[in-house]
Amino acid sequence: MASKILLVEDSDTQLKFLKDGLEKNGFIVETATNGAEGYKKLYECAPDLVLSDIMLPVIDGYQLCRLIKNKDETKKIPVILLTVLDKKIDSFWGKKAGAQLFLSKSIDISELVQNINATLRRYPVSDEYKATVVLKATTFDTSAQSQLNTILNDLLLKSVFANEFRNLSDFMNYERILVEKLFSLLSSFVEYNVAGIFFASPDEFSENILYIDTLGRNLSKSILSDIQYDFFRKLADIRVFKDNKFEVVRILMGKEMEYNFNDLRSKIIIPLVFDKKLIGGICFYTKQDIDYASFRYFDIMISELLAIFKMKYQYTEKEFMSVLDGLTGLYNRRQFELGLEQEYNRTKRHPSDFSLAILDIDFFKKVNDTYGHQYGDYVLKTVSDLMKASFRKTDLLYRYGGEELVMIMPETNIEGALIPVQRLRRSIEEYNFEYNGVKAKVTASIGLTMNYMEFNSAQDLLKSADEALYQAKEGGRNRVVIHEQQ
Ligand code: GH3
Ligand code: MG
Ligand code: MG
Repeated sequence: MASKILLVEDSDTQLKFLKDGLEKNGFIVETATNGAEGYKKLYECAPDLVLSDIMLPVIDGYQLCRLIKNKDETKKIPVILLTVLDKKIDSFWGKKAGAQLFLSKSIDISELVQNINATLRRYPVSDEYKATVVLKATTFDTSAQSQLNTILNDLLLKSVFANEFRNLSDFMNYERILVEKLFSLLSSFVEYNVAGIFFASPDEFSENILYIDTLGRNLSKSILSDIQYDFFRKLADIRVFKDNKFEVVRILMGKEMEYNFNDLRSKIIIPLVFDKKLIGGICFYTKQDIDYASFRYFDIMISELLAIFKMKYQYTEKEFMSVLDGLTGLYNRRQFELGLEQEYNRTKRHPSDFSLAILDIDFFKKVNDTYGHQYGDYVLKTVSDLMKASFRKTDLLYRYGGEELVMIMPETNIEGALIPVQRLRRSIEEYNFEYNGVKAKVTASIGLTMNYMEFNSAQDLLKSADEALYQAKEGGRNRVVIHEQQ
């Protein structure tokens, strides 16, 4: 059966010339003289191929091509664009619009026919497919203008979306700020009562934190725990999780504003995976059943989120793989884990004492909240410097977590360790912090322990330091607590 070609050309002489030429070669030719008319015709005649000029009135060839490629029921129909211009940029746009082929108008008929036949062979359109094209025409407004408007709106939204998300890339090393900005962005276009964000770390020993936004409303601890449990259980198909916890990011308000289970009936949990690795996840909870999959911009949102999560993961990976922490210049957590294990094993083989201390800055959240994150960073850096000044060269100093610093003191028992540890605590307490003219006082709490016989692993030893630190916090902060030997 002869193939049907829809020819779109605004010049009468060109149109006649091409139509005759194609018909002589056995094609059935339907015609239109501008893009809008061409688009309407497409639904009426369901051609095997569209051959269109680029320079057309009303709607040009690129736009026509885009319209065709934008709809499932027409996108399989191949499009060849013709132009007098033979500039690279034309061909670029032609390809971006999804055209199968891009030919110069000066081409002679026999060569054109060859190209058309080759394209028809490569992109055959079945009769069933063509039948649905005609059928679909009755179900929506096939006017090119309204379709173009939809595309334009989508594109605009996509670029606005992309921009908003890309602005977040400045906050890659400030996880909490990044999380807050992400929530404020997501809540501006997704209907939710509660949302969660989780960044997976390449360090499998790190804590897994699900950040939760309740839009300023209250939520019971038990519901929060359920959300956390649900979330990590769903993601556990992809990766094994050790410690999980949640952290509520936006401030909670009065009790009267508390959500109940009913407000969170409908949920969606989305793991974000890249390169077969889990790089994070998000979840949304709402009252009404929301079919997120049909949410028009969902795909765009997910792909932008994926880009952000990917960047964040790579950033963390880089930090994790390197030896020094960027902000403080101390050894990083991974080095600490290796160092502690090494020291523990060494002193098992060749018995000798070593001490371990963990420092956590008191009310650091408040420092950030009051003076800003930059100020917080300054404090952290300064405390690290004070730490370097308080210890011997042979002591090993690390940044363990956010604002937690650890010290390994080889060949040092508790009495010996207490001296530099107390000196450090005092020097922080006495230090007059000042940054950009803003003054502040800061204190820190420290847990101290040593390699007593009672411990069966480096992890046990670390846990005892952590417990001592906890007691220092409980006991009123700004103090050193020594783990009590059993
Ligand atoms: P506490 O006395 O109980 O320790 O109170 P806190 O506010 O210090 O509580 P917690 O230790 O749980 O809070 C740690 C906070 O430190 C959370 C986080 O916002 C902040 N933080 C973690 N890492 C950084 C960092 O690199 N820079 C800044 N500026 N803040 C950080
Ligand atoms: Mg802390
Ligand atoms: Mg703290």
